[in-house]
Amino acid sequence: MQRLKAGFDPFNQLNPGKIATPADSGAELLKIDEVPTRGQQDRLIPLAARDEYSQAMFCNGNGACYNYDPKDAMCPSWKVTRERKHSPKGRSSLVREWLKQLAEHNTDPVAEYHKVRASNFLFTLPGRLLNTLSLKRGQYDFNHEVYEAMQGCLSCKSCVAQCPIKVNVPDFRARFLELYYGRYMRPVKDYLLAGLEPLLPALAKWPGLYNALTQRPAMRAATAKLLGLIDNPAMSPESLAGQLEAQAVELATVSGIARLNQADRVRSVILVQDAFTSHFEVQLVLDVIELLQRLGFNVLLAPFMPNGKPLHVHGFMKGFEKPLIGTRKC
Ligand code: SF4
Repeated sequence: MQRLKAGFDPFNQLNPGKIATPADSGAELLKIDEVPTRGQQDRLIPLAARDEYSQAMFCNGNGACYNYDPKDAMCPSWKVTRERKHSPKGRSSLVREWLKQLAEHNTDPVAEYHKVRASNFLFTLPGRLLNTLSLKRGQYDFNHEVYEAMQGCLSCKSCVAQCPIKVNVPDFRARFLELYYGRYMRPVKDYLLAGLEPLLPALAKWPGLYNALTQRPAMRAATAKLLGLIDNPAMSPESLAGQLEAQAVELATVSGIARLNQADRVRSVILVQDAFTSHFEVQLVLDVIELLQRLGFNVLLAPFMPNGKPLHVHGFMKGFEKPLIGTRKC
Protein backbone atom coordinates (compact mmCIF):
# COMPACT_ATOMS: atom_id res chain seq x y z
CA MET A 1 0.00 0.00 0.00
CA GLN A 2 2.84 2.41 0.82
CA ARG A 3 4.54 1.71 -2.52
CA LEU A 4 1.25 2.34 -4.35
CA LYS A 5 0.74 5.55 -2.38
CA ALA A 6 4.27 6.68 -3.28
CA GLY A 7 3.51 5.98 -6.97
CA PHE A 8 0.33 8.03 -7.13
CA ASP A 9 0.66 10.54 -4.29
CA PRO A 10 4.37 10.97 -3.50
CA PHE A 11 3.81 14.18 -1.51
CA ASN A 12 1.00 12.72 0.65
CA GLN A 13 -1.55 15.26 -0.55
CA LEU A 14 -4.57 13.00 -1.00
CA ASN A 15 -6.37 12.09 2.20
CA PRO A 16 -3.40 12.83 4.47
CA GLY A 17 -3.77 11.29 7.91
CA LYS A 18 -5.18 8.02 6.59
CA ILE A 19 -3.27 4.81 7.18
CA ALA A 20 -1.05 4.56 4.09
CA THR A 21 1.76 7.08 3.75
CA PRO A 22 4.16 7.19 0.76
CA ALA A 23 7.03 4.73 1.11
CA ASP A 24 10.39 6.38 1.87
CA SER A 25 8.71 9.73 2.58
CA GLY A 26 9.43 9.57 6.27
CA ALA A 27 5.74 10.18 7.03
CA GLU A 28 4.50 8.09 9.92
CA LEU A 29 2.56 4.93 9.09
CA LEU A 30 -0.44 4.93 11.39
CA LYS A 31 -1.52 1.83 13.28
CA ILE A 32 -4.84 0.58 12.04
CA ASP A 33 -6.53 0.97 15.44
CA GLU A 34 -5.13 4.45 15.94
CA VAL A 35 -6.61 6.11 12.87
CA PRO A 36 -9.27 8.61 13.99
CA THR A 37 -12.60 7.56 12.47
CA ARG A 38 -15.78 9.44 11.78
CA GLY A 39 -17.63 6.88 13.89
CA GLN A 40 -15.74 8.07 16.99
CA GLN A 41 -16.99 11.59 16.34
CA ASP A 42 -20.54 10.43 15.57
CA ARG A 43 -20.71 8.45 18.80
CA LEU A 44 -20.32 11.71 20.73
CA ILE A 45 -23.87 12.49 19.57
CA PRO A 46 -26.52 10.89 21.82
CA LEU A 47 -28.48 8.06 20.25
CA ALA A 48 -31.84 9.86 20.33
CA ALA A 49 -30.38 12.81 18.42
CA ARG A 50 -28.76 10.46 15.91
CA ASP A 51 -32.15 8.82 15.36
CA GLU A 52 -33.92 12.16 14.98
CA TYR A 53 -31.38 13.33 12.39
CA SER A 54 -30.71 9.92 10.87
CA GLN A 55 -30.91 11.38 7.36
CA ALA A 56 -27.78 13.41 8.07
CA MET A 57 -26.08 10.59 9.97
CA PHE A 58 -26.52 8.13 7.06
CA CYS A 59 -24.37 10.16 4.65
CA ASN A 60 -21.24 8.06 4.13
CA GLY A 61 -19.38 10.81 2.31
CA ASN A 62 -19.15 9.04 -1.05
CA GLY A 63 -19.43 12.44 -2.76
CA ALA A 64 -21.92 11.46 -5.50
CA CYS A 65 -23.48 14.88 -4.90
CA TYR A 66 -20.36 16.64 -6.19
CA ASN A 67 -21.85 16.21 -9.62
CA TYR A 68 -20.70 18.39 -12.52
CA ASP A 69 -23.03 17.06 -15.23
CA PRO A 70 -25.41 19.88 -16.20
CA LYS A 71 -27.94 17.29 -17.43
CA ASP A 72 -28.01 15.46 -14.10
CA ALA A 73 -30.59 16.60 -11.54
CA MET A 74 -28.28 16.02 -8.56
CA CYS A 75 -28.01 19.07 -6.36
CA PRO A 76 -28.58 22.32 -8.23
CA SER A 77 -27.36 24.38 -5.26
CA TRP A 78 -23.95 22.68 -5.40
CA LYS A 79 -23.79 23.08 -9.19
CA VAL A 80 -24.44 26.80 -9.02
CA THR A 81 -22.21 27.64 -6.06
CA ARG A 82 -19.53 24.89 -6.24
CA GLU A 83 -19.34 25.32 -2.49
CA ARG A 84 -19.25 22.14 -0.44
CA LYS A 85 -21.51 23.52 2.26
CA HIS A 86 -24.20 23.82 -0.44
CA SER A 87 -24.10 20.10 -1.28
CA PRO A 88 -25.96 17.27 0.50
CA LYS A 89 -22.62 15.98 1.83
CA GLY A 90 -21.68 19.42 3.14
CA ARG A 91 -25.07 19.96 4.75
CA SER A 92 -24.98 16.50 6.36
CA SER A 93 -21.49 17.18 7.77
CA LEU A 94 -22.59 20.53 9.17
CA VAL A 95 -25.63 19.00 10.86
CA ARG A 96 -23.50 16.25 12.43
CA GLU A 97 -21.07 18.89 13.72
CA TRP A 98 -24.03 20.94 15.01
CA LEU A 99 -25.40 17.88 16.86
CA LYS A 100 -21.96 17.24 18.34
CA GLN A 101 -21.69 20.82 19.56
CA LEU A 102 -25.20 20.62 21.07
CA ALA A 103 -24.13 17.47 22.92
CA GLU A 104 -21.01 19.27 24.23
CA HIS A 105 -23.32 21.99 25.60
CA ASN A 106 -25.67 19.38 27.12
CA THR A 107 -28.48 20.48 24.80
CA ASP A 108 -30.78 17.75 23.63
CA PRO A 109 -32.30 18.61 20.21
CA VAL A 110 -35.18 16.18 20.79
CA ALA A 111 -36.16 17.87 24.07
CA GLU A 112 -35.70 21.26 22.37
CA TYR A 113 -38.05 20.31 19.61
CA HIS A 114 -40.75 19.33 22.15
CA LYS A 115 -40.14 22.64 23.90
CA VAL A 116 -40.48 24.64 20.67
CA ARG A 117 -43.72 22.89 19.79
CA ALA A 118 -45.23 23.45 23.21
CA SER A 119 -44.12 27.06 23.44
CA ASN A 120 -46.39 30.07 23.10
CA PHE A 121 -45.56 32.33 20.17
CA LEU A 122 -46.00 35.56 22.18
CA PHE A 123 -44.14 34.35 25.30
CA THR A 124 -41.09 33.42 23.23
CA LEU A 125 -41.15 36.63 21.17
CA PRO A 126 -38.89 38.76 23.44
CA GLY A 127 -36.23 36.05 23.63
CA ARG A 128 -36.24 35.54 19.87
CA LEU A 129 -36.09 39.29 19.28
CA LEU A 130 -33.08 39.65 21.60
CA ASN A 131 -31.27 36.71 19.99
CA THR A 132 -31.91 38.13 16.51
CA LEU A 133 -30.62 41.54 17.56
CA SER A 134 -27.47 39.97 19.03
CA LEU A 135 -26.93 38.06 15.82
CA LYS A 136 -27.29 41.24 13.78
CA ARG A 137 -24.75 42.92 16.03
CA GLY A 138 -22.27 40.22 15.11
CA GLN A 139 -22.55 37.71 17.97
CA TYR A 140 -21.21 34.37 16.73
CA ASP A 141 -23.50 31.35 16.76
CA PHE A 142 -22.67 28.09 14.96
CA ASN A 143 -26.43 27.65 14.43
CA HIS A 144 -26.21 30.45 11.91
CA GLU A 145 -23.51 28.75 9.86
CA VAL A 146 -25.74 25.69 9.56
CA TYR A 147 -28.68 27.99 8.76
CA GLU A 148 -26.81 29.62 5.87
CA ALA A 149 -26.05 26.25 4.34
CA MET A 150 -29.70 25.22 4.72
CA GLN A 151 -30.96 28.44 3.16
CA GLY A 152 -29.20 27.59 -0.10
CA CYS A 153 -31.13 24.31 -0.39
CA LEU A 154 -34.04 24.43 -2.86
CA SER A 155 -35.81 21.45 -1.25
CA CYS A 156 -35.98 19.98 -4.74
CA LYS A 157 -35.37 16.47 -3.30
CA SER A 158 -32.98 15.47 -6.08
CA CYS A 159 -30.67 14.16 -3.38
CA VAL A 160 -33.41 11.85 -2.10
CA ALA A 161 -33.70 10.23 -5.51
CA GLN A 162 -30.12 10.45 -6.79
CA CYS A 163 -27.91 9.87 -3.75
CA PRO A 164 -26.89 6.19 -3.42
CA ILE A 165 -27.66 6.41 0.33
CA LYS A 166 -30.82 8.50 -0.33
CA VAL A 167 -29.66 11.27 1.99
CA ASN A 168 -32.76 13.41 2.52
CA VAL A 169 -31.64 16.99 3.03
CA PRO A 170 -35.16 18.54 3.03
CA ASP A 171 -36.06 16.23 5.94
CA PHE A 172 -33.28 17.32 8.30
CA ARG A 173 -33.38 20.88 6.95
CA ALA A 174 -37.02 21.19 8.09
CA ARG A 175 -36.16 19.78 11.54
CA PHE A 176 -33.24 22.15 11.87
CA LEU A 177 -35.29 25.20 10.80
CA GLU A 178 -37.95 24.38 13.36
CA LEU A 179 -35.35 24.61 16.14
CA TYR A 180 -33.55 27.57 14.60
CA TYR A 181 -36.74 29.63 14.51
CA GLY A 182 -37.44 28.64 18.09
CA ARG A 183 -34.37 30.78 18.82
CA TYR A 184 -34.52 33.51 16.18
CA MET A 185 -37.20 35.58 14.43
CA ARG A 186 -38.69 34.22 11.24
CA PRO A 187 -38.96 36.31 8.07
CA VAL A 188 -42.57 37.45 7.48
CA LYS A 189 -42.53 35.87 4.02
CA ASP A 190 -42.30 32.41 5.62
CA TYR A 191 -45.71 32.93 7.25
CA LEU A 192 -47.18 34.22 3.98
CA LEU A 193 -45.89 31.32 1.90
CA ALA A 194 -46.84 28.72 4.49
CA GLY A 195 -50.39 30.11 4.73
CA LEU A 196 -50.93 30.54 1.01
CA GLU A 197 -51.60 26.94 0.04
CA PRO A 198 -54.84 26.41 2.03
CA LEU A 199 -56.01 29.90 1.05
CA LEU A 200 -55.54 29.45 -2.68
CA PRO A 201 -58.93 27.83 -3.44
CA ALA A 202 -60.68 30.82 -1.84
CA LEU A 203 -58.39 33.38 -3.51
CA ALA A 204 -58.94 31.68 -6.86
CA LYS A 205 -62.58 32.82 -6.80
CA TRP A 206 -61.35 36.37 -7.54
CA PRO A 207 -58.26 35.93 -9.72
CA GLY A 208 -58.72 39.42 -11.22
CA LEU A 209 -58.64 41.04 -7.78
CA TYR A 210 -55.68 38.89 -6.66
CA ASN A 211 -53.70 39.82 -9.77
CA ALA A 212 -54.65 43.49 -9.54
CA LEU A 213 -53.31 43.54 -5.98
CA THR A 214 -50.14 41.54 -6.50
CA GLN A 215 -49.03 42.31 -10.04
CA ARG A 216 -48.96 46.11 -10.06
CA PRO A 217 -45.37 47.37 -10.41
CA ALA A 218 -45.58 49.31 -7.14
CA MET A 219 -46.82 46.24 -5.27
CA ARG A 220 -44.18 43.99 -6.86
CA ALA A 221 -41.47 46.44 -5.87
CA ALA A 222 -42.86 46.66 -2.33
CA THR A 223 -43.06 42.88 -1.82
CA ALA A 224 -39.53 42.50 -3.19
CA LYS A 225 -38.13 45.21 -0.91
CA LEU A 226 -40.10 44.54 2.26
CA LEU A 227 -40.60 40.78 2.11
CA GLY A 228 -37.90 39.52 -0.23
CA LEU A 229 -40.52 37.96 -2.50
CA ILE A 230 -39.68 38.51 -6.15
CA ASP A 231 -41.36 37.50 -9.41
CA ASN A 232 -44.63 36.56 -7.76
CA PRO A 233 -46.65 34.72 -10.42
CA ALA A 234 -50.06 35.88 -11.59
CA MET A 235 -53.03 33.63 -10.87
CA SER A 236 -54.60 31.93 -13.90
CA PRO A 237 -57.63 33.97 -14.98
CA GLU A 238 -59.84 30.91 -15.46
CA SER A 239 -60.48 28.33 -12.74
CA LEU A 240 -59.49 24.72 -13.25
CA ALA A 241 -62.96 23.55 -12.19
CA GLY A 242 -64.65 25.56 -14.93
CA GLN A 243 -62.27 24.31 -17.61
CA LEU A 244 -62.53 20.66 -16.62
CA GLU A 245 -66.20 20.40 -17.51
CA ALA A 246 -65.26 21.12 -21.13
CA GLN A 247 -62.74 18.25 -21.08
CA ALA A 248 -65.15 15.76 -19.45
CA VAL A 249 -62.78 14.96 -16.59
CA GLU A 250 -64.22 13.34 -13.48
CA LEU A 251 -62.95 13.66 -9.94
CA ALA A 252 -61.27 10.55 -8.56
CA THR A 253 -63.59 9.50 -5.75
CA VAL A 254 -63.52 6.19 -3.90
CA SER A 255 -67.01 5.27 -5.12
CA GLY A 256 -66.20 6.35 -8.69
CA ILE A 257 -63.05 4.23 -8.76
CA ALA A 258 -64.91 1.25 -7.29
CA ARG A 259 -67.41 1.47 -10.16
CA LEU A 260 -64.71 1.14 -12.83
CA ASN A 261 -64.50 -2.24 -14.53
CA GLN A 262 -61.14 -3.99 -14.93
CA ALA A 263 -60.57 -2.71 -18.49
CA ASP A 264 -61.28 0.90 -17.46
CA ARG A 265 -59.03 0.61 -14.43
CA VAL A 266 -56.11 -0.50 -16.56
CA ARG A 267 -56.41 2.58 -18.79
CA SER A 268 -57.13 5.05 -15.98
CA VAL A 269 -54.69 7.62 -14.64
CA ILE A 270 -55.31 9.62 -11.47
CA LEU A 271 -53.79 13.07 -11.65
CA VAL A 272 -52.79 14.41 -8.23
CA GLN A 273 -53.11 18.17 -7.98
CA ASP A 274 -50.43 20.52 -6.83
CA ALA A 275 -51.70 23.77 -5.33
CA PHE A 276 -49.46 26.07 -7.32
CA THR A 277 -49.93 24.39 -10.71
CA SER A 278 -53.70 24.12 -10.27
CA HIS A 279 -54.04 27.82 -9.46
CA PHE A 280 -51.20 29.53 -11.28
CA GLU A 281 -50.75 27.29 -14.33
CA VAL A 282 -54.20 25.98 -15.16
CA GLN A 283 -53.31 25.66 -18.83
CA LEU A 284 -50.46 23.30 -17.96
CA VAL A 285 -52.86 20.98 -16.10
CA LEU A 286 -55.29 21.11 -19.04
CA ASP A 287 -52.50 20.31 -21.51
CA VAL A 288 -51.38 17.29 -19.48
CA ILE A 289 -54.96 16.05 -19.29
CA GLU A 290 -55.42 16.49 -23.04
CA LEU A 291 -52.14 14.68 -23.76
CA LEU A 292 -53.14 11.73 -21.56
CA GLN A 293 -56.59 11.59 -23.14
CA ARG A 294 -55.11 11.61 -26.64
CA LEU A 295 -52.85 8.74 -25.58
CA GLY A 296 -55.99 6.80 -24.73
CA PHE A 297 -56.07 7.16 -20.96
CA ASN A 298 -59.16 7.81 -18.87
CA VAL A 299 -58.09 10.76 -16.70
CA LEU A 300 -59.45 11.18 -13.18
CA LEU A 301 -58.49 14.19 -11.13
CA ALA A 302 -57.75 13.75 -7.42
CA PRO A 303 -59.67 16.37 -5.40
CA PHE A 304 -57.49 19.25 -4.29
CA MET A 305 -55.93 18.93 -0.85
CA PRO A 306 -53.13 21.09 0.52
CA ASN A 307 -50.08 18.81 0.66
CA GLY A 308 -48.26 20.94 3.23
CA LYS A 309 -45.02 21.24 1.27
CA PRO A 310 -44.64 25.00 1.99
CA LEU A 311 -45.03 24.21 5.71
CA HIS A 312 -42.37 21.51 5.51
CA VAL A 313 -39.96 23.59 3.42
CA HIS A 314 -40.08 26.41 5.97
CA GLY A 315 -39.84 24.14 8.99
CA PHE A 316 -43.38 24.62 10.34
CA MET A 317 -43.29 21.00 11.44
CA LYS A 318 -46.13 21.26 13.93
CA GLY A 319 -48.51 22.52 11.24
CA PHE A 320 -47.13 20.08 8.69
CA GLU A 321 -47.77 17.06 10.88
CA LYS A 322 -51.38 18.01 11.62
CA PRO A 323 -53.72 15.68 9.80
CA LEU A 324 -55.06 17.29 6.67
CA ILE A 325 -58.76 17.80 6.97
CA GLY A 326 -61.33 18.58 4.35
CA THR A 327 -61.08 18.24 0.60
CA ARG A 328 -62.28 20.61 -2.02
CA LYS A 329 -64.19 19.97 -5.14
CA CYS A 330 -61.39 20.96 -7.47
S1 SF4 B 1 -32.92 19.16 -1.89
FE1 SF4 B 1 -31.29 20.65 -1.46
S2 SF4 B 1 -29.50 19.37 -1.00
FE2 SF4 B 1 -31.00 18.03 -2.01
S3 SF4 B 1 -30.43 18.11 -4.19
FE3 SF4 B 1 -31.99 19.72 -3.89
S4 SF4 B 1 -30.81 21.59 -3.46
FE4 SF4 B 1 -29.38 19.86 -3.20
